[in-house]
Amino acid sequence: MSDVPEPAGSAGLLISGAGSVGSALALAAAHAGVPVTLIEKRKEEGGRQDPRLFALSEPSWRWLGEIGVLNHLGVPASPIREILVEEPGHPPVRLDALDVDLPVLGYTVWASQLEDAFGRAVRSEPGIRFLPGTQIESLVAGRGGADCRLQTPQGAGRLIAPLVVIAEGRPPGWALGFGMRSVEEDTGRTALVIPLATRVRPVFAQAYEQLAGDSLLAILPAATARSVVTWTLPRAAARRFMEAPPAGRRGELARRIGCNPEAIVWDGDPASFDLLTRRVDPPCADRVLLIGNAAHSIVPFAAQGLNLALRDARHLVGAFVSSRTAGQDWGSREWTARFWTGRARDHRRVDGLTVGLPRLFALKDPLSRLIRSGGWAVVARSPGIQRRILMRGLGWNP
Ligand SMILES: Cc1cc2nc3c(=O)[nH]c(=O)nc-3n(C[C@H](O)[C@H](O)[C@H](O)COP(=O)(O)OP(=O)(O)OC[C@H]3O[C@@H](n4cnc5c(N)ncnc54)[C@H](O)[C@@H]3O)c2cc1C
Repeated sequence: MSDVPEPAGSAGLLISGAGSVGSALALAAAHAGVPVTLIEKRKEEGGRQDPRLFALSEPSWRWLGEIGVLNHLGVPASPIREILVEEPGHPPVRLDALDVDLPVLGYTVWASQLEDAFGRAVRSEPGIRFLPGTQIESLVAGRGGADCRLQTPQGAGRLIAPLVVIAEGRPPGWALGFGMRSVEEDTGRTALVIPLATRVRPVFAQAYEQLAGDSLLAILPAATARSVVTWTLPRAAARRFMEAPPAGRRGELARRIGCNPEAIVWDGDPASFDLLTRRVDPPCADRVLLIGNAAHSIVPFAAQGLNLALRDARHLVGAFVSSRTAGQDWGSREWTARFWTGRARDHRRVDGLTVGLPRLFALKDPLSRLIRSGGWAVVARSPGIQRRILMRGLGWNP
């Protein structure tokens, strides 16, 4: 077994998983002067087919600029200046960037292009030692750090790090042995991702969210006058849609959006994502911390998952830096637990948006409808409430 040599200088951070979250964390840590080893199971770079269009909030976008990702995004992003939210039969609510004194609320970017930009940024950052085709085989936590056995393309390797951050998109099998319990729930819902070659709602820089019982539909604007519909609905209904002939699909989607069927021009096949929610409790142990989908996975309603995980990554780097400056050990059980306790409020807030709101809209009894109807009218008329909703959606904790 060969020792994977430590980066020069002080002991570094080991991050496992070079998806969006692991890569962002690696770049931010390297920019802050923390030596990083980033390992990734896949050997090849990019090339993954992913039809999703991600909506990233203005604060997330700005941070991606600061850590050097946007320089590597060779395509234009599409701005979102306003969000139109409606429940059919009620007045729509318009949430405008100007309500929070911002030029834009965020941007949309193709998931595959964001992944490629992360790949290029990681490979060109001298503070990151990137090891593709490598995974953790076993890990033993001790006072000096986590002693990791690695599987590398060259054979077995070994590395000791004060903290190992798992960003593998799911919790590793060995997490249970560290006292971490993963609670997963199948929501019984499926998100359909439907790329369109047109803007079905032809308003520039507008995102549209429709809440109608158990159907949640979002239309995001993409660059070059395209758009993507993300439609979350009960699994059986989603399956029926996927199995219907193109004309049937077109009719159903047009009815739901309230547009002419002719306006719907497919831009590739729809894809479906069965939605599970996951929460690992606790998402940390001595010398180990889980982040991103490895720690928590939420439904894509309101485009919060990656935005929340990027905020976690940003806070994590802030926590390393202040502990290092204060000469404290970072990575101990107390340290990792303290980090996640500090992030609990933001996570509760996002759960309120992604779990609470769809539940509220799924209630069909007359009293709930009446309360909602009154609520819509109040929100539609109150700039103060609209501002608070936007601040929460953007991740600014009031
Ligand atoms: C339909 C849909 C739409 C969404 N839209 C939005 C949106 O608009 N805005 C938003 O903020 N969020 C959105 N999300 C959420 C977003 O997709 C996730 O939050 C985000 O992709 C999580 O990234 P991750 O890096 O944690 O995981 P992943 O992207 O899964 O990355 C994990 C990485 O780890 C690697 N890996 C796996 N196992 C190992 C191993 N053993 N060793 C080393 N490496 C390993 C994988 O190869 C991969 O590269 C959406 C989700 C869905 C389902």
